[in-house]
Amino acid sequence: MACPLCSTKNITHSPIMNMLRSHYAMDISPEMDGEKVRVAGWVEDIRNLGGIAFIILRDRTGRMQITAIKKQNPEIFKEITSLTRESVISAVGTCQKNEKVMNGWELLLEEMEVLSIAQTPLPMGVVDKVNVDFDTRLDNRIIDLRRDETKAVFMIRHTMLGAAADFLRKNGFIEVHTPKISASSSEGGTEVFRIDYFGNDAYLVQSPQLYKQMLMASGLDRVYEIAWYFRAEEHDTSRHLNESTAIDIEMAFIENEEDVMKIAEGLTNAIIQKILEENSRELEVLGVKIDLPSLPYPRISYDEVVEILQKEMDFKWGDDLGTDEENMLAKHLDYDVYFITRFPLEAKPFYAMADGKYARAFDLEFKGMEISSGAQRIHDYEMLVSRMKELGMNVDNFEDYLNAFRYGMPPHGGFGYGIERLLMRLLNRSNIRECILFPRDRKRLRP
Ligand code: ATP
Ligand code: MG
Repeated sequence: MACPLCSTKNITHSPIMNMLRSHYAMDISPEMDGEKVRVAGWVEDIRNLGGIAFIILRDRTGRMQITAIKKQNPEIFKEITSLTRESVISAVGTCQKNEKVMNGWELLLEEMEVLSIAQTPLPMGVVDKVNVDFDTRLDNRIIDLRRDETKAVFMIRHTMLGAAADFLRKNGFIEVHTPKISASSSEGGTEVFRIDYFGNDAYLVQSPQLYKQMLMASGLDRVYEIAWYFRAEEHDTSRHLNESTAIDIEMAFIENEEDVMKIAEGLTNAIIQKILEENSRELEVLGVKIDLPSLPYPRISYDEVVEILQKEMDFKWGDDLGTDEENMLAKHLDYDVYFITRFPLEAKPFYAMADGKYARAFDLEFKGMEISSGAQRIHDYEMLVSRMKELGMNVDNFEDYLNAFRYGMPPHGGFGYGIERLLMRLLNRSNIRECILFPRDRKRLRP
């Protein structure tokens, strides 16, 4: 997308720029030689050679060199020498083409406003090549976010969320938000966090499952929700968070789970496509090459998975697929993204539609890790109640949910899709905590 103000091919150049900045680093090009601009950002480095000083200034889009000449402006020159690394300034100057400098231009400084002086020493370096350990980075996440690699992950996350909303809206999904505090401990399965709600017990919801299904009886037909969920997962793994974000969809009038899978694969490709279009710089920073998977994604049935796994490990039909199983399976496949379909009914939650001993359910896998689970659901009230009783569930706890099935509920299905999980796989991050701003896990509740 080109800038509406100038000829630069950059999307960061907003027509409503702030008073303290007219251009980002990437909005300026050597062709702007002689133009006056106002830039702003963090002082990454200062080199003072006596009569001339160079500031490397960093903003969201990149870096630039600001050149100050003592003779021309002794006052500003003095101020520059008092700047500390990572201080924040806004500077006015003239662009000057210079092939020897990064970007092919430098800014000849004319005015400078010091907006904030950074204290010393910094808790961690921003540009230092030395490896900072992950805990230190998370403890100082704001400084960590100034690093190119960390920032790249969140710029790509931003693209992902926009692409997901675009795709879903184009396909007729209505954006909704369901409660995150609930009286019942939702669908079971994972542990939930209990909270004190004015003296009564309430729970943080582990997914929008029950609400999005209830909405299928409302006539909205196709809904999506992008929100956060809370799971008191006991285990401390590189792929689980206690607070995570997800894209959830639910759609009515489906024939079977295939209708849902088409949305799941379409959504994934729409996200990847948009990242390829908009984030080539970030992908380069992260050293990641992404290929757009071809559609439709391969579908491999649970029975086929069992056959493959039994050659390699002790695995019984009906067992759930854990990390070891998923990794082993991935080793046997020559594609990265695939669906596992037709799970044993017992391996899936109570609301999954049965097809004999199978569930009309699927997992979407990316290089051996589940990024999404979905299914056709039971829409028949009697069938749902009898399934819940069969599993020993107390139907009284699900009164509101079940009521939605009494007065006209169309066949429906949907999926939950882990935002951090997709990013982790797409960007080859080894720890899911890299993909969320402020991770919550068993040991970490701050910052
Ligand atoms: P897993 O078996 O991998 O723990 P799950 O089957 O319990 O996941 P679902 O209930 O199917 O997870 O949730 C839908 C999606 O939400 C998952 O496919 C995954 O992408 C994401 N997800 C679930 N739990 C977590 C978590 N603790 N942290 C991050 N993402 C999660
Ligand atoms: Mg799952």
